[in-house]
Amino acid sequence: MTLRSLKVGGLVPMTTVDYPGCLSAVIFCQGCPLRCRYCHNSDLLPREAETVIPWREILDFLKRRQGLLDAVVFSGGEPTQQRALPDAIAEVSAMGFKIGLHTAGIYPKRLQAILPSLDWVGLDIKALPEKYESLTGMPGSGDLAWQSAQILLESGIPYELRTTLHPALTSHNEKARIEEAIATFGESQHVWQVCRTDHCLDPNLRSS
Ligand code: SF4
Repeated sequence: MTLRSLKVGGLVPMTTVDYPGCLSAVIFCQGCPLRCRYCHNSDLLPREAETVIPWREILDFLKRRQGLLDAVVFSGGEPTQQRALPDAIAEVSAMGFKIGLHTAGIYPKRLQAILPSLDWVGLDIKALPEKYESLTGMPGSGDLAWQSAQILLESGIPYELRTTLHPALTSHNEKARIEEAIATFGESQHVWQVCRTDHCLDPNLRSS
């Protein structure tokens, strides 16, 4: 048990889609400094929440899944916002699980520090750097995310860059420019994801 426990806002006990090729559990870390207009996880955004699942319960759950699951994915929220993440990763890794991370990459130094502990990373590239602030509400978030992408690709760790498309936010022209910018990394693993529009943080983006 770590002194400073990871704050967990949710858990998916078993999934085949959150870590390519692996049967995994997903731990949703509480808290995110961004406020992406299309975010559909608004309950996970505050650092503090009443719905937090005690870390001890997460470890007990994972003990019962040893040999049944291949991997554990730390998702969010933004997992790297929490200082307790490296210790949590170490505990879960010691149980024999592969470690996956979903991140928006806004803490490149923290990402770089934990990369050796990770087996796979899904990194959001949300927009061109200059468009980030209007999407996330955080000045400088674009440069940080693209910096993280560079670090991740240089690390050689298996990864996927993911860009979520909302029709009201990303024009055809911008989509092409994002593709061009990602191509400057060389051959890279990049996917487009269709935005869920039912619970967007920005009510103007909701479909219903
Ligand atoms: S979509 Fe944006 S605001 Fe929502 S959890 Fe992910 S990074 Fe944070």
